[in-house]
Amino acid sequence: MAEKTIARKPPHCLVLSYPFQGHINPMLQFSKLLVHEGVKVTLATTRFFIKNLHNNLPPSISLESISDGCDNDGIQEAGSYNAYIQRFWQVGPQSLVDLLEKLAKLGNPVDCIIYNSFLSWALDVAKRFGIVGASYFTHNMAVNSIFYHVQLGKIKVPVIEDEVSLPSMPKLQLGDLPSFFLTYEEDGPVLEMLTGQFSNLDKADWVFCNAIYELDKEVVDWTTKIWPKYRTIGPNIPSKFLDKRVKEDEEYDVTQFKSEDYCIEWLADKPKGSVIYVSFGSMVPFDEEQLREIAYGLRNSDRYFLWVVRASEETKLPKDFVKKSEKGLIVTWCSQLKVLAHEAIACFVTHCGWNSVLEALSLGVPTIAIPKWADQSTNAKYIEDVWKVGIRVPIDEKRIVRREDLNNCIKELMESEKGEEIKRNAIEWRTLMTRAASEGGSSHKNVIEFVNSLFSL
Ligand code: UDP
Repeated sequence: MAEKTIARKPPHCLVLSYPFQGHINPMLQFSKLLVHEGVKVTLATTRFFIKNLHNNLPPSISLESISDGCDNDGIQEAGSYNAYIQRFWQVGPQSLVDLLEKLAKLGNPVDCIIYNSFLSWALDVAKRFGIVGASYFTHNMAVNSIFYHVQLGKIKVPVIEDEVSLPSMPKLQLGDLPSFFLTYEEDGPVLEMLTGQFSNLDKADWVFCNAIYELDKEVVDWTTKIWPKYRTIGPNIPSKFLDKRVKEDEEYDVTQFKSEDYCIEWLADKPKGSVIYVSFGSMVPFDEEQLREIAYGLRNSDRYFLWVVRASEETKLPKDFVKKSEKGLIVTWCSQLKVLAHEAIACFVTHCGWNSVLEALSLGVPTIAIPKWADQSTNAKYIEDVWKVGIRVPIDEKRIVRREDLNNCIKELMESEKGEEIKRNAIEWRTLMTRAASEGGSSHKNVIEFVNSLFSL
């Protein structure tokens, strides 16, 4: 526990999330850890994103909003993601200033802003107000390191080398780098935002990453030399799936989609380790051809499968694919952690979003990787070659995963000696993840160090 010996008003953190599901999830879980240690937390994100959230926040955490300049329709209103970023960067800083002033007027002045690292301008606002500024990286540090090296000019875009060598990391081929290195021409502003995370980071009082030391020791050690206040504080998933420290908060979440949790009942009568869980997160769209290949790959495996196909994707499914068949169930959203924790689950076919990776590692579920966008290819590289907890499905020249390749990977994971080893590795990682987040573990100690610093302000 943190040392809260002096009777005083609890320190107040404003936790500012980027308006994506994969960002607010871990930042909410981190907020809960802070609240558990006696810190007051206000969670904030953009107005449009909040409007569309199903909120189930603990009473101890209040929700506030800032404007991204697209309050009515989010990214759609801006016309493109690039245009959205530009608008957000123009409007966001002043809107954050307004929020800080409003909270101060209400008698709730903010002592510290913990901002999503994408929103690097929030650090400048914190410094203007003379309060603590903490950057929170939702991506793994290996991925962050790649963008840092672009910012330093040590990786040039476009990448023309066959391989990229970075300190404390395996050699990376172009297909292992974040997708923006392939699409840099149309994704210039996104790359700029990602490299911009480091533009003022030397002014940050703390730099947090939703990862654990044991996963990436070399990269963490290397990173801490550059930012001495860099700390791993993950995995930020509900603690009931780890060590049950924050029992009272266990069901709280914020989601864009309504869960179809009858899938948990569907799992109930399936044999242990028999079901393939398939989900590609909250954002990545697949085209019809890719969905068809995945659909038939799953059907041809002749195994049980539970597949999350978001409502916006459902019409792209092959016409002969029904929501419920003899072997398969398709839902539009589920409580992923409950599913991964279920003993019927054998493996996780995933797009390798960082939260999904951390969740699989935390629950000891082996993975089959189908990365598509952003940081996912780099995560897939680590899954297969560094942590050895999964297999990456090959892609063809159209960058499509074919049904027979998916089927082969399922067979390899479920039936081969290599698959057995991967399952053993996954269980070992589970133990390390839990230990890191438990009392006295590497991440827990870092959270306590931060909380103590807030109490001694
Ligand atoms: N998720 C969920 N239900 C689903 C699919 C995903 O609760 O049916 C959650 C998942 O547990 C994770 C988040 O949504 O916390 C997705 O984040 P991730 O980083 O994996 O991918 P993104 O959505 O950012 O691409």
